[in-house]
Amino acid sequence: MSVTLTPSSIASEQRSTVRCASCGATLDDRTARATCPNCGGLLAVEHVAPKATGAALRALFDERLGAASYRGSAADRSGVWRFRELVLPAARPEEIVSHPEGNTPLVARDAVASFAGASGLRLKHEGHNPSASFKDRGMTAALTQARRIGARAVACASTGNTSASLAAYAAQAGIPAFVLVPEGRVSTGKLAQTLAYGAHMIRLRGDFDDCLELAREASEQLGIYLVNSLNPFRVEGQKTIVLELLQQLGWESPDWIALPAGNLGNTAAFGKALREAHALGLIDRVPRLLAVQAAGAAPFAAGFADDFATRRRVRAETAATAIRIGDPASWDRAVEAIRFTQGHVVAVSDAEIFAAKRVIDACGVGCEPASAASVAGVRTLVERGVIGRDERVVSVLTGHLLKDPDAALAARVAGGLGAEEPLTRDEALGHLERVLASSSH
Ligand SMILES: [Zn+2]
Repeated sequence: MSVTLTPSSIASEQRSTVRCASCGATLDDRTARATCPNCGGLLAVEHVAPKATGAALRALFDERLGAASYRGSAADRSGVWRFRELVLPAARPEEIVSHPEGNTPLVARDAVASFAGASGLRLKHEGHNPSASFKDRGMTAALTQARRIGARAVACASTGNTSASLAAYAAQAGIPAFVLVPEGRVSTGKLAQTLAYGAHMIRLRGDFDDCLELAREASEQLGIYLVNSLNPFRVEGQKTIVLELLQQLGWESPDWIALPAGNLGNTAAFGKALREAHALGLIDRVPRLLAVQAAGAAPFAAGFADDFATRRRVRAETAATAIRIGDPASWDRAVEAIRFTQGHVVAVSDAEIFAAKRVIDACGVGCEPASAASVAGVRTLVERGVIGRDERVVSVLTGHLLKDPDAALAARVAGGLGAEEPLTRDEALGHLERVLASSSH
């Protein structure tokens, strides 16, 4: 079937509601608040159900993905705004700040499938987004909201991919961006991006929580729009990782979707996406979520082991910095997501994460360390017999290899590669012959 896309079909009259999960307060969808003004609770966006559901809604999304997307609007070309009925239906075309983003590949590599022990394993590589991590999907929604409310500036507290993504989208929107970072180590790739895209970086004496507190105060007192992970519109954008991978699979659900789990924002967003996709008839069957934590930062895995009887906090330590979180912000929603999908949570060691990373890197795909947890977790659950060897599994890689080049180099040098002394011309020729001889049988 053919669906005609006009500006009026983009600018839906239907507004969304922003609701506090704690006290039930509701706000207009043009709110500038990132948390509940009454109680400080987390806000969630609820959309009016689109007129089309089931096969008709699938056809609408597929039409936008097809040839029409080259002639159609910028929103149609985005792997986020293609699904705008489930992101922010009231956003007008001129309000949308889109690179475009999304459209990330779903790749199959025998070496990775064999390593994990799951023959049907695919990798959804979110490192192919414009700033090279999944954060762009949430940030396009958050900066669109910033433009809708006429924000004078945007800010976040972050040491990583969020700041790089914020800087890129704020630059496109023409809105000044402030990034608050604690003193100490920030990965080279992410720091370089943030500065190059033109964000104002403020290094604060203190830790991450001090940065977050200052960002909140600046938001209250100076009218700066806060786009931290608690921002409800970021969740709406992140849902499209799931919607897009379902579309890539022809709306046939996989058996499992595995993802790295730190602050639990994606776990929560994936749960919301699957709940809505099922309710709207986009899919018949809900895949199970597998949230994978680093063993040194695994409060959610510990919680899963006792059926989430209590909320846990730990002192986090792992080389997978993007998931080095001891007190995850989206705990409650992530619990809902695991329960709704009959999901599973597992912790893997840093050694297991880096073993997976070496395999992912060596087949030419590559990822940042935290991303590899999603493959290491699948391997662990296949070994335990929780995931069947012929089940269909999608592991989400959240960031590009170059996000943390030091970690990538360290992993190879530890394996004896790249550490050799420079050779003379004759030595180099001899070396080439030996390597070719040893690899030609
Ligand atoms: Zn509230």
